Amino acid sequence: MECCCVDCYQHLEWASVMGGPDVPIVPTLSYWDNDIDVVRGEEHLKVVLLREEGRSRRTTSTCCYSTLMVDHSAYSGVMFMFFEEACRVQEDDPDVPPTKTRPAESRIYLKDFDTSRGELPEFQGDPSRVHQTCCPEYVKGWNRISSPALDNPSGEKVQSLFERIPEMTLGLEEGKRILNRSDCPVGFP
Ligand SMILES: [Zn+2]
Repeated sequence: MECCCVDCYQHLEWASVMGGPDVPIVPTLSYWDNDIDVVRGEEHLKVVLLREEGRSRRTTSTCCYSTLMVDHSAYSGVMFMFFEEACRVQEDDPDVPPTKTRPAESRIYLKDFDTSRGELPEFQGDPSRVHQTCCPEYVKGWNRISSPALDNPSGEKVQSLFERIPEMTLGLEEGKRILNRSDCPVGFP
């Protein structure tokens, strides 16, 4: 799905000014089975919260400021979220380049979109699936559709990884834009 919310955008702006990927005008989110295997580089990972009461826990790599797994209680531990533009992942089909973002099936939090981000790209999917906030009724079924437990887990859950890696809280006011490093009081080495 595509999310226009201020929190997704604020995190991506922060990562970008730190040297991470460019911020898309509208971020594309995808959801993956909560079953991961850290092959290497765990020492670079940090859990980042936008503010003390922040509910999303976003894993960012301090070497390149790519953002990896994102956890939120609404995902019920069966899936994690991923910003498609913030870290390139090869899909199962080797002929599909990792720069290709899969079409979004909905767009949420349009109310948070501000034209200072750029021109809002036209939504390519079903226009009835553009929403001012979260969450449309059909989203509520996603966790149940993906079953309360994973069928054949082979790795670990992001929650177990998050217990091992350091956590950092940025202390940002909701909706504040991060246009350069001085806009974020903490979180800089
Ligand atoms: Zn969002």
